[in-house]
Amino acid sequence: MAGEIGHMGMVPDGEACGCGLFECAEQYASGSALERFAWSAARRQPCQSEHLLEACEYDRSKLIGPMVRDAAQQGDLTANEAFDRLGEWLGRLMANLASVLDPDTFVIGGGVAEVGGILLDPARAAFSRYLETSMYRQHASVLEAKAGDMAGVIGAADLARID
Ligand SMILES: [Zn+2]
Repeated sequence: MAGEIGHMGMVPDGEACGCGLFECAEQYASGSALERFAWSAARRQPCQSEHLLEACEYDRSKLIGPMVRDAAQQGDLTANEAFDRLGEWLGRLMANLASVLDPDTFVIGGGVAEVGGILLDPARAAFSRYLETSMYRQHASVLEAKAGDMAGVIGAADLARID
């Protein structure tokens, strides 16, 4: 499990994770976190969430990440707030990783990263802000993975390939 950063402790007494802990990064920096943030924001400000609430038929169980992406691109304020919140957590997670690895580049994968700047811009800003007073590099490149949701399959196929 080395390198599986999703279960790093990031928020004491936080959201319950499928692994049994209540502090895991993946509860704050993932597609499922985006859905939770968007639903929470939409419930607080329904007038700013028309596209999102219509897409999921006002039903939390039907809300999925691509709906949040589409609503953000159509101008829903709360969908954009959800991406800002996700970017904040992603930036914080990257800053934590920088204290161990200090990389010059982060590559963000998974379907949620396919939105590009809507997520990566706030993540870059948060990353720099969290490291502002530290000795770590504050301006690592934050790039979108090119393989999207297929990254795991492509990586497995590459491992199995006989050269
Ligand atoms: Zn966990």
